[in-house]
Amino acid sequence: MKFNTKTIHGGQEHDPAYGSVMPPIYQTTTYAQSTPGGHKGYEYSRTHNPTRNALEKAFASIENGNYGLAFGSGLAAIDAVIKLLQPGDEVVSTNDLYGGTYRLFTKVYEDFGIKFHFIGMENANKIEQYVTPKTKLIWVETPTNPMMNVIDIVAVSGIAKKHNILLGVDNTFATPYLQQPLDLGADIVMHSATKYLGGHSDVVMGALVVKDKDLADKLYFIQNASGAVCGPQDSFLVLRGIKTLHIRMQRHCENGKAVAEYLASHPKIGKVYWPGFESHPNHDVAKSQMKDFGGMVSFTTEGNDYEGAIRIVERLKIFTLAESLGGVESLAGHPASMTHASIPKEEREKTGVVDSLIRLSVGIEDEEDLIADLKQAIG
Ligand SMILES: *Cc1c(COP(=O)(O)O)cnc(C)c1O
Repeated sequence: MKFNTKTIHGGQEHDPAYGSVMPPIYQTTTYAQSTPGGHKGYEYSRTHNPTRNALEKAFASIENGNYGLAFGSGLAAIDAVIKLLQPGDEVVSTNDLYGGTYRLFTKVYEDFGIKFHFIGMENANKIEQYVTPKTKLIWVETPTNPMMNVIDIVAVSGIAKKHNILLGVDNTFATPYLQQPLDLGADIVMHSATKYLGGHSDVVMGALVVKDKDLADKLYFIQNASGAVCGPQDSFLVLRGIKTLHIRMQRHCENGKAVAEYLASHPKIGKVYWPGFESHPNHDVAKSQMKDFGGMVSFTTEGNDYEGAIRIVERLKIFTLAESLGGVESLAGHPASMTHASIPKEEREKTGVVDSLIRLSVGIEDEEDLIADLKQAIG
């Protein structure tokens, strides 16, 4: 099955009871047993739920994996991955990381004795100097949030395999429509399904997909033992979202390109970060591992002034000033005061998250309306 067909049919069966085309929302905690242990595969909904399982199969299908797991949020999914580790273990991670992931690593798991190295991985060879016998996980976000750095997954996976280290890729920004990390050598692919997979800004959810059965079993154990699962209603909504992922992404990419090009031509705009520009430092890698360049665009003001950036985001009318991304509607965010406020200023600025940086999640509205909105807001 090819990708567009998979988004609609991957891992899905018509419901055996009445043939319903969409899986019913099994809003139940428990399942009747005829005798102790005499059940139909379902005992308790933390462990298994038919609606969630339908979604988990869809996750596995679209990411070309064998096993999918759904969690109550993207961070709950990452939390489950870190629980594969033990005190004393080390993780090498990209430095330009989603703020909440950075917070989970440094404010929660460092206290449990896990050591994190945050480094720029645009040159994958840099990773090896941080690898020790205790390194158990390499964690990659690409494109990164919000600087749109692109990391060569094949190159990183070569290093991970050589040292027998797990490679996890946060594929939230790209989605499997653009990039399939398991095919590029990653062991675990993770999503904040809150974003493009759900796609309608109405569900918070996380996902993991793996190929390897042993790894899947460990993660299923953690999913059930720690219990950060999502409910059946949310599972249904994300399953519905995935069915239009390919056409939404196509439009996100078209509009993202138009917005990036408009901003790059505007005299009052400073830098524009978008992997589709030939001048982007890792454009070639983006071209080889991604099908297109996505709908996320970041930029600074010409004078790099905080007030100027705030004025722009306040004036936008179609772009809503809000956290999050990946929904059908366009959103604008100011990372320094919003999504990345939990990262200390010196750390932030080292990676380019300066005070005038604005991040756009370009939605699927009409391109002309989006450009006109930016035009009036920039003034
Ligand atoms: C939003 C996001 C997360 C966290 O996901 P939640 O669903 O908000 O817990 C992780 N990584 C990236 C890249 C994100 O954008």
